[in-house]
Amino acid sequence: MTDLYYPLRSLREGHWFKLICGASFQHLPAIRTLVMAYTLAGVDCIDIAADPAVISTAKIALDLATSLAKADGGKRSYTHAVPWLMVSLNDGEDPHFRKAEFNAATCPSGCARPCEQICPAQAIVFEAPAEVARGSGLATMLRTDARESLAVIDDRASGVLSDRCYGCGRCLPICPVQQIVTHSYQSTPAAMVPFIMQAGIDAIEIHTQIGHIDEFCRLWAAIEPWLDKLKLIAISCPDGDGLLDYLRALYESISPLPCALMWQLDGRPMSGDIGIGTTRAAVKLGQKVLTSGLPGYIQLAGGTNHHTVPKLKALNLLHPRLQNAATTAPSVAEPLLKSDQALDASQAVQGYAHDQATAYVAGVAYGSYARTLLMPILNQLDAIRLEMAEPEARAVASGSARSPLAIVNPAFSTAFSTTERSQPLGLEDAPDLLWQAVGLARSLVSQLKAFNTEHPMRLDL
Ligand code: SF4
Ligand code: SF4
Repeated sequence: MTDLYYPLRSLREGHWFKLICGASFQHLPAIRTLVMAYTLAGVDCIDIAADPAVISTAKIALDLATSLAKADGGKRSYTHAVPWLMVSLNDGEDPHFRKAEFNAATCPSGCARPCEQICPAQAIVFEAPAEVARGSGLATMLRTDARESLAVIDDRASGVLSDRCYGCGRCLPICPVQQIVTHSYQSTPAAMVPFIMQAGIDAIEIHTQIGHIDEFCRLWAAIEPWLDKLKLIAISCPDGDGLLDYLRALYESISPLPCALMWQLDGRPMSGDIGIGTTRAAVKLGQKVLTSGLPGYIQLAGGTNHHTVPKLKALNLLHPRLQNAATTAPSVAEPLLKSDQALDASQAVQGYAHDQATAYVAGVAYGSYARTLLMPILNQLDAIRLEMAEPEARAVASGSARSPLAIVNPAFSTAFSTTERSQPLGLEDAPDLLWQAVGLARSLVSQLKAFNTEHPMRLDL
């Protein structure tokens, strides 16, 4: 049977894992791959941009992943329930909701292009093939608005691929002539909230900042009528003077809630892939909010990476059962399933008494680090897609030609073959890459969920 309570149970038991695709990350092929790989690796929640194309792509990827998990029978997959889909909305200017851009035609001719090197999303290109600029050949590789920040000279494109840019800002200070700028955007809640709820979203995350109470309340007014359809409300806020008072004011203004409440503590935003030290700010912020006794689940983000869980463990900030030296999570799946059967359903749906503070970190969200971990897979898929540029890709899609993958990989999936659909090549078409991606994703997920590594759950999804 499907474990309907599972994501909530992960919060309660302190092994919640959220993949952050990115509030402004719109690169659909990458989102599709990330959602598939991390779903098969056993995540609880996937945070995506409030964009119709992104939501649609993520839902397709979730369906594919759950089909693959079922077909795999728990041999290589760790999917125990369909992860929740969360979208992020902002109540004001926020670096997560911005895009970089520059006019490549005005770059000094001798510039060594450090911007290209530093971009973690490979969003900055110079003299890229015309297919990239036009979005042809790769079908969904670029959306229409992604071309606006590109300069196209002699059919070669240079600039920022806006669908890949997630606003980290690393390219800004490195440009010697400071010609890279950012454009922020804000959600229009009155139009956006009904749309995302009708699209079947499970959770909403509100990005706010200290002092934004009026703006927050305006956004909240659009969300409040939909609360009974949500399983979780998350509030993301960076540290600063008066943080705890601000979070308490937010709590007062949204209480009581009919769903779970989570505080996303954004230590050092969008930096987890930079190095070991980036996790410190998130852990420190977690300690600060935990000791305040603020009601709701605490989840770290911003600078999180492979060092976050060991650091939390060293500081005794994980759930007591995860503190065991032999493992980072409950010992085996079976006792958990039994205890779950005894849960009171209404309590589970209500979010386990979110009016009480927890004494441990309920989970961790990973963004740039999780994406970077899968970059070799994303690059290989991109390379194969480029090789399959039109008209060959169309011939393969219509079944009149063999995919290059079928040539390089005899294990080419027939169950999810490209010949059955008109979509560009997906992760499911390359089984070797697919399970490599799941293995990489699992290396991160298992830090919080080591308990089902040896005992994968085989629930009927
Ligand atoms: S803001 Fe970050 S993701 Fe966007 S182009 Fe600059 S370095 Fe790349
Ligand atoms: S660093 Fe600045 S000047 Fe140099 S290529 Fe990049 S945008 Fe152009």
